[in-house]
Amino acid sequence: MGSQSLAATEPSISQLIEQCQSLEDDKPKEAVNLAKSIIEKIDKLNNPVNYGLALGCMGWSYAVLDQFDQSRQSAFQLEKLASGLNETDHRVNLQRRAGSIFHRLGDRINATENYQSAMQLAQKLGLQTEQIPLLVNLGVLNSELKAHEKAINSYYLALELMEELGDFRYHAPVLFNLAATLNGQSRYQEALDIYQQVEAQINEHWPTQRVIQVYFGLATVHAGLEHKAETQSYIEKIEALQGENPETNLTYYSFAVFKALQAVKNGQAEGKLEIADRAKSYYFSDEGQQLLTSSTNPLNVLATLYERLDKPEQAIEIYKAAKALEQKFQDSFNRKSMAQMQARLDDLQQSEEMAVLKAQNQENEMVLTKSAYQQTLMIITIVFLSVILLMIVFWQQHSKKQLIRLTTTDPLTNTKNRRGIAIWNQNHKFPEAPFQRYLWLIDIDNFRRVNDDIGHDVGDTALATLADTLQKFKNQDRCLGRWGGEEFLLITQDIAHADLDTFADELLKAIAKTEVIHGVHRFSLQASIGVSIIKDSSDHRWNRAISQADKALYVAKDRGRNCMVVSTDF
Ligand code: GH3
Ligand code: MG
Ligand code: MG
Repeated sequence: MGSQSLAATEPSISQLIEQCQSLEDDKPKEAVNLAKSIIEKIDKLNNPVNYGLALGCMGWSYAVLDQFDQSRQSAFQLEKLASGLNETDHRVNLQRRAGSIFHRLGDRINATENYQSAMQLAQKLGLQTEQIPLLVNLGVLNSELKAHEKAINSYYLALELMEELGDFRYHAPVLFNLAATLNGQSRYQEALDIYQQVEAQINEHWPTQRVIQVYFGLATVHAGLEHKAETQSYIEKIEALQGENPETNLTYYSFAVFKALQAVKNGQAEGKLEIADRAKSYYFSDEGQQLLTSSTNPLNVLATLYERLDKPEQAIEIYKAAKALEQKFQDSFNRKSMAQMQARLDDLQQSEEMAVLKAQNQENEMVLTKSAYQQTLMIITIVFLSVILLMIVFWQQHSKKQLIRLTTTDPLTNTKNRRGIAIWNQNHKFPEAPFQRYLWLIDIDNFRRVNDDIGHDVGDTALATLADTLQKFKNQDRCLGRWGGEEFLLITQDIAHADLDTFADELLKAIAKTEVIHGVHRFSLQASIGVSIIKDSSDHRWNRAISQADKALYVAKDRGRNCMVVSTDF
């Protein structure tokens, strides 16, 4: 009798776990205590699932409390426990939970491992509902790791599953993240489409800040598509939502900078430097530093604004801060690319140069104090001033050069980016007859397989290695760049029409002979090439040449790949 009434009043273990989970984000301290008391009550061997759920609640709550060590410990215990469980949905959920604790702690290696084993098991067992949140987690993680293609794929897969299962719990955040990632990859048209789907879901229950973020996304996408009127209209919508006294948070400053940049593009530069400076001091404040992450990195826009306002020094400072931020968020999982190493070397060299100048400066000062004669003093003052002057000139030139290099180079392959290619095409003198300027669009064959089968890291190494091979074909009359993804673009004007095939053979052979080495992996790749003629330096001709090369490339793929096709559509 007594034990029965006890059972009726005392909550069950499952109820306690639910209670713990409902407390973990808002009252993490209480959640930790509750989790501890649950764990004391449970026999780990007989009831491992509940034990794991309590561990998960404890680990997450510790993470919310910023108690990293305790949180990590719980996550490791949970990981171990989960990997020993039978293959059921419980194991999937506990592994995902361990993954998300590691993720929250910034430990992306362990997060990925847990998410991935949960995913594999969910797929093996055909557990579709469980796959949705996992795909969302993987998407966010991949965005952070700059594996944008993977992130985009995860989000699209999650959306498909939602449709299939009619389970739309994560619909809005997935759409939003997908749109933001596409936007970040300059895939504006797709991003627009998705943002519009999010926009259609906005209702009066949405917090203003969230609505602002969606409108901000729409504004940037429209700006990317050069839709001036729409961009302006979303800017106005955001201003209306912000009201008279907007909260000056990260979104506020990102938006202010974006708005200023649009205005400057429209020729209204007045007062914009002040906005840039204010945003800069916010980004560099303690609060700003805490909120900035590499996946929402607004520093590049600020750098562009400074660049547009003709302030190269500030622009470089901000570009560097942006790079530093990204580096901070990188771990061994996301191997540092050659280009970043290069940038660091440049930094080193620059500080050495600065040290030399400072030493010279000091020497002069010493001489200055020792000098007894007025005349000598004067001469030395002049020397001293000229050193300073030289230093300023040197710095300015150096900064400009570095800025140009930063903004025209693709960091992964160390070849020109689209902007660098366009500048070359516009500034380089056209060849005399019988030579012509040819555009070679080189697309690696079946590249997706490298990413899918071996990994995105290896894909990146392959791109950098092939870029090195292609660099060998460069000379004064040629320009090499990365057109996007795994497509390279070569411009030549020292190859005659009769020699196109021979040159293509050399290129294709060199590519096929290149060995990509990454850890234990060794392999080689092939490519297909589409060629067209650039007749003059107008934008119109350029666009036409690109589209013709693209079509020729398509034909080359159709013919079985590893070959070159010249566009006949002149
Ligand atoms: P195809 O022979 O038809 O060209 O096949 P493909 O697999 O190469 O197809 P496509 O050219 O459409 O694929 C591009 C793939 O390149 C998609 C993406 O996985 C990969 N990719 C694009 N950019 C990067 C990158 O920066 N790093 C890595 N690792 N992969 C990339
Ligand atoms: Mg391609
Ligand atoms: Mg390809």
